[in-house]
Amino acid sequence: MTTTSTALSVPKNGAPFETIELERRALRPDDVRIKIAFAGICHTDIHQVRSEWGETIYPITPGHEIVGTVAEVGAQVARHRVGDLVGVGCFVDACLECAACKDGEEQFCEKGVVATYAQEDYHGEVTKGGYSTEVVVRDHFVVKIPDGMDPAAATPLLCAGITTYAPLRRYGAGPGRTVGVIGMGGLGHVGVKIAAAMGAEVVVLSRTDAKEQDGKTFGADAYLATESEAVFGDHAGEFDLILNTVGAAVDLDSYLGLLGRGGTMVNLGAPSESLEFGAFSLLMMRRQYAGSMVGGLAETQEMLDFCAEHDIAATVEVISGDQVDDYYDKIVDGDVRYRAVIDVSTLAG
Ligand SMILES: [Zn+2]
Ligand SMILES: [Zn+2]
Repeated sequence: MTTTSTALSVPKNGAPFETIELERRALRPDDVRIKIAFAGICHTDIHQVRSEWGETIYPITPGHEIVGTVAEVGAQVARHRVGDLVGVGCFVDACLECAACKDGEEQFCEKGVVATYAQEDYHGEVTKGGYSTEVVVRDHFVVKIPDGMDPAAATPLLCAGITTYAPLRRYGAGPGRTVGVIGMGGLGHVGVKIAAAMGAEVVVLSRTDAKEQDGKTFGADAYLATESEAVFGDHAGEFDLILNTVGAAVDLDSYLGLLGRGGTMVNLGAPSESLEFGAFSLLMMRRQYAGSMVGGLAETQEMLDFCAEHDIAATVEVISGDQVDDYYDKIVDGDVRYRAVIDVSTLAG
């Protein structure tokens, strides 16, 4: 039987959010029905709602940072039980048979991964995300929130957490390695915390010194305000790894110059314009420029367990459903400290 949830929805480009009733599908044997407690607001939601990456499918209910409680499970579900605190991230289906899926990188599924919202799924339905009181998701795509984690603060880990954790692991962040994080917003502040917990020397690369105290509180060893050009000369070659979390174009040649021999810069943000840098910025010192996009399910669970073990989570502002439009503008202006999370109980009225 289908169930009715209350959701926030944008009917067309440029319109504000409205509260609607949303049908969620009847449970298939491998489905989990989740009563949502919190939904994080990711910058991707704003890009999609505003059709900044091409025309979005409207109406859209965004939200791919979801935490809630299992309300019902399908007949074949063994991994999750009613009452469990669980999470859902950026995607909700994949073939689970291709090479990428078998390698635990479902996000790169060869059949095409199904995004948590605003995408037609394998059954011809357009997915609707977490700004909603309930969601139905295939069990493989549901992770466990470890005991003792604050559910609101855990919510942004489902996107911002895994997006930073995966490249930090892949490129060896740890003791004896210097890691820079460009931008200390929703993604960057979680990246700072995770890199510090991995034991790396962490340096925040932020435009101004406005967030310096917070950066140190999050575990950074140093903080450089990049509006001062001198930073790039004074610290040339000092970094092993730099995460670029900024969603707008930055002067990549300057930042690449901060990398030492064999150093890697990983692009995590997604500006709409093309990236540009000179070839010598890579040739010199054998540097690499890489990309990374979220992580697979097993790695997402590993990240959550790592964060629980090191007692870290996102720093959040919990907001109500009627504040979402205002917060979209605040996020674009960089005025949120550091991730906005919707208390979904405010949607039901
Ligand atoms: Zn996201
Ligand atoms: Zn696949």
